[in-house]
Amino acid sequence: MTTANSNYRDEFKSVIQKLIDSPDNQHEQLTNFIGNEFVESEKCMDSVNPATGKPWIKIPNGTAAEVDNAVAAAKVAFKTWKNTTVQQRSALLNKVANLVEEFNDEIAILESRDQGKPIGLAKVMDIPRCVQNFRDFANAALYSLSTSKILEQPTGKCVNYVKHDPVGVAGLISPWNLPLYLLSFKLAPALVAGNTVVCKPSEMTSVTAWVLMHVFKLVGFPAGVVNMVIGEGRSAGQRLVDHPDVHLISFTGSTLIGKKIQEDSAKMNKKVSLEMGGKNPGIVYSNYRKSDIATIARSSFLNQGEICLCTSRLFVQRPILEDFLTSYVEEAKKVCLKNFTVGDPSSQVQIGAMNSKVHFEKVKKYIDIAKSEGGTILCGGVKEISNGCEDGYFIAPTVIVGLPDSSQVMTDEIFGPVVCITPFDTAEEVIERANSTSYGLSATVWSANTDELLNTANELRAGTVWCNTWLARELSMPFGGCKQSGTGREGLHDSLHFYSDAKTVCVNLASKY
Ligand code: NAD
Repeated sequence: MTTANSNYRDEFKSVIQKLIDSPDNQHEQLTNFIGNEFVESEKCMDSVNPATGKPWIKIPNGTAAEVDNAVAAAKVAFKTWKNTTVQQRSALLNKVANLVEEFNDEIAILESRDQGKPIGLAKVMDIPRCVQNFRDFANAALYSLSTSKILEQPTGKCVNYVKHDPVGVAGLISPWNLPLYLLSFKLAPALVAGNTVVCKPSEMTSVTAWVLMHVFKLVGFPAGVVNMVIGEGRSAGQRLVDHPDVHLISFTGSTLIGKKIQEDSAKMNKKVSLEMGGKNPGIVYSNYRKSDIATIARSSFLNQGEICLCTSRLFVQRPILEDFLTSYVEEAKKVCLKNFTVGDPSSQVQIGAMNSKVHFEKVKKYIDIAKSEGGTILCGGVKEISNGCEDGYFIAPTVIVGLPDSSQVMTDEIFGPVVCITPFDTAEEVIERANSTSYGLSATVWSANTDELLNTANELRAGTVWCNTWLARELSMPFGGCKQSGTGREGLHDSLHFYSDAKTVCVNLASKY
């Protein structure tokens, strides 16, 4: 690990420490970030700590005029930023990675308090993956973007080469489940490809994005290259989508909003990438490896089930159903044992709080629908937590059986620690049922038989299929969804291509005309 320049290291440390020391109800106030200035917003609102149910910080509720200012700053900065070399941009991104990495644990405290996830998870997943995004895109761009293809024509008179131009001002809209990590997955490729950006993080989780803006300023990004307006989707987000000087929108969030963004962006033919919702199936064949049971359960409950890639429908081959249910429910309940529990995310727990009251109510509603439709809840449901978390939003890992595939609980994205388990008989049948929802983000297949794994993976309509594993990711692989789960792919090469326009230049080398 490289240690940051001590001048800006101390300044950054004090920014973070002030937030860490800001207990609930003290109302520290965040700002927008425009042209390298931290600018107060005309309006502001409370951001709630999901573990306590109480406001812990004030955040901007950015207006359309504030978005316009941010876009104007980005537009001016683009004129010079686009002409920097990929090596210069890559070097700056590596500095971002180094500073975030140095303060991994402190940033994790803020991510946990703002999002509700266990602090331990933020330390080992969210913040390190953010660091990896900046570092890997910084390095990959050196090879993907700076090398041009030179092809001689058969006549020998012309040379063609391809130049990857940045697109312009990019609007980056991100969700609340993996706040810093998913924003960095957009920022790193957009910036290294030479675009300038206006970010709109989720209004539910803006704190670590605001911290990241300090990093950009401190490591020396020129004014206007990175801008951020914090605020609601329907105002700040919508203005970003509608702004004529924003040439590209990268969105991660719900299918409902993604489809609206696609429609609105089409009016100006903007380049759009949409990473949207899922209802991911897991298929467990009779000969699955029993040692995988913990990973199968983790695939439904990690991050309170608030990962777009979590398994929410588990199809289990009929001969092993009863045994599987016993082992699986045991695993799900393990996360409720003492010292290994659902609870205050700032302590050593596996499952923290649902991100918001609205979301908590939504997940509860689906558990109630399951009951009313004749489903059996084998474990889980709302969990009362004490020691200051009495008003927090806690739901224990919930396992439901006995619902038909047509149930809303089996077709809608719930995005919580809730899984429905159902039996199947043949591969052909399960593939058809797994593919039967409108989503196609990811899937898992569990079997000791390689043919069974690969044949099933081959037939599933999903952007990612994990076989005997889950969430293992190689950044150079394409990532995205089919059907209503998304449009386009992210990943080292896919993102760099999305954030740039390939231009073919054809030069006639004939010396005489
Ligand atoms: P959301 O769609 O409500 O909001 C996402 C972002 O869009 C937020 O920043 C929000 O403020 C903004 N927004 C809302 N309305 C807007 C509008 N009219 N114009 C512009 N921006 C607007 O989603 P969410 O509740 O924050 O996140 C959860 C969803 O995200 C789930 O559906 C989950 O599956 C999905 N998700 C998908 C992926 C993926 O990679 N496919 C990853 C993470 C989350």
